[in-house]
Amino acid sequence: MSTTGIIFDVKRFAVHDGPGVRTTLFLKGCPLRCLWCHNPESMLVQPRLAYYVHKCLHCGECVSVCPTHAHALFDGKHAFDRSVCTACGACEEACLGSALKNYGEAISVDEAVQIVIEDRDFYGEDGGVTLSGGEPLFQMEFCCDFLKQLKALGIHTAVDTCGCVAWSALEKVLSVADIFLWDFKHSDREEHRRLTGLPNDLILENLNKLVECGARIEVRIPLVPGCNDSEENLSATAKILKKLHVERVRILPYHALARTKYEALGMKNAIHDFSPSEPEIVLCAVDIFRSRGINAE
Ligand code: SF4
Ligand code: SF4
Repeated sequence: MSTTGIIFDVKRFAVHDGPGVRTTLFLKGCPLRCLWCHNPESMLVQPRLAYYVHKCLHCGECVSVCPTHAHALFDGKHAFDRSVCTACGACEEACLGSALKNYGEAISVDEAVQIVIEDRDFYGEDGGVTLSGGEPLFQMEFCCDFLKQLKALGIHTAVDTCGCVAWSALEKVLSVADIFLWDFKHSDREEHRRLTGLPNDLILENLNKLVECGARIEVRIPLVPGCNDSEENLSATAKILKKLHVERVRILPYHALARTKYEALGMKNAIHDFSPSEPEIVLCAVDIFRSRGINAE
């Protein structure tokens, strides 16, 4: 029997998740808690039900099917008791208003490979498959087995990682990952801890080792206004990357926080709002890296 993973999404024909046209699998579970995270459904490995209150039609279908009586309707209001929800997904299927979404689906390596086989004609010369998350290497066994099968089929593979994982996990996928998309959040140890919940020591150590192993790496920097877009931080980041001989950096402008999703998932306490990135700040960031001889876009 093939290894099973827990995913929260599959994106087909993705064009921003590595070279060419790709199929991206989003795996659940992440060690970081970035203040700007727009995929809160990815944080925990366990499935979690989201209830989008504005879509509810008060039809009562969820009340009828829920085995744990997590839903109730009274006085025209819908109450959802998350504490008894086992995320079985029965109410999502029954819901007439698409107000319920169970984030987290078990998928076997064989099933995942089947999706890829259906898509492979679209990959062309450069495209392939990307594992993202969350932090995909949180489910290392699944990643390893899946990537091995893809390599046996001659398919290009990318691993989108925050790098905050045991070196042994990176080492295991080293021979079956064609490129690492390395999300770099902040150059300063304590600021990194404040913004993501953990310091950056392990991330820098792993990046250094990966470069020494000769892995192909594209560093990606989510540019978040007021968090990591200062000239001081970007210059310090460029200095670190130059020293590590990282050749390629991609700046990812921040768009907007998924406030509705946080509320639907019952994660209101984790909401932090930031403004979208100003285009001129993004251009300045790119210039900072280019001026140090790093290929940035
Ligand atoms: S996911 Fe299952 S347990 Fe949770 S509310 Fe829906 S039916 Fe009930
Ligand atoms: S099934 Fe969906 S639309 Fe109907 S009451 Fe439940 S959440 Fe609302």
